[in-house]
Amino acid sequence: RQERYRALRDTPARSRDGQDVDLMMNAGLLVDLPHLDQAGAAGIGLFRTELQFMIASAMPRASEQERFYAAVLEAAGERPVTFRTLDIGGDKVLPYLHQSPEENPALGYRALRLALDRPGLMRTQLRALMRAASGRDLRIMVPMVSDLSEMRQARDLISREFKHLTRFGHHLPHRLQLGAMIEVPSILYQLDELMQLVDFVSVGSNDLFQFFFAVDRGNAQVANRFDDLSPPFAKALRDIVEAGRRNSVGVTLCGEMAGRPLSAMALLGLGFRSISMTSSAIGPVKAMLIELDIADLEAKMTAFLADGRRRTTLRRFLEDYAT
Ligand code: PEP
Ligand code: MG
Repeated sequence: RQERYRALRDTPARSRDGQDVDLMMNAGLLVDLPHLDQAGAAGIGLFRTELQFMIASAMPRASEQERFYAAVLEAAGERPVTFRTLDIGGDKVLPYLHQSPEENPALGYRALRLALDRPGLMRTQLRALMRAASGRDLRIMVPMVSDLSEMRQARDLISREFKHLTRFGHHLPHRLQLGAMIEVPSILYQLDELMQLVDFVSVGSNDLFQFFFAVDRGNAQVANRFDDLSPPFAKALRDIVEAGRRNSVGVTLCGEMAGRPLSAMALLGLGFRSISMTSSAIGPVKAMLIELDIADLEAKMTAFLADGRRRTTLRRFLEDYAT
């Protein structure tokens, strides 16, 4: 099997009915980078910048951050990299950053909430990213966007840093694209407005699933009661794809479900044409993709989801379809 996946490395990620799909990988440390070539990834769809901070014993300096991001971009070459700004708090603690104990850390003072309150941290990171990407395209996305005002604040912060660096004569990225993660259900009801503020969105299905069903993603006893292949969750995902089409905004998904071939198949059937996963999943997902007639699946899945009297689960439907 491993051999077969390796042999697929240079095979285009194209479905049997000729649709191209971006199969990207998730990364966060320098050790992940060789996998870009080994797995034949189209780029890095999610770079978790907090990992550099989590393995450090003190806050990484601006220069260290810049050097690290430059190394990532260097390894990626022409391939796109989407950097996610710091997603700390919740289960991701920095030993050197004081945080008050919280009863519900996943719902607490974390990610963008913390970043907007303590903009110094985010500003340093943004400058490091912009300097590291001078002369290139830079894609930045922000985690845990819960409402439009947060997105506006993040956008203002980013454009202020960009202007600041310009004023001081730095070489800057020649294009900066800004994205929002869709991982809090409240934003599902503000998609059109959100999409006026960003260039792309990326679904964080791990957190979206957790908050959608109100189950701790790390607690199998409750998380396994629900299925990320269930009609309500699939409808939410489809609404995001449709909003992206309506607003001409790129949509991708970077949660773990993208790396499970059956779930990846569902995502293609829902209209996703870009997904990002752990690098070892790219081979198995590509093996599924090249055998798949996406248009046919899309039509059958749409009919399945529209049937109010369906007798079987979406998972069962997909398993039957796959065989
Ligand atoms: C997610 O929530 O799906 C995601 C990709 O981010 P993380 O797993 O780092 O929270
Ligand atoms: Mg997340």
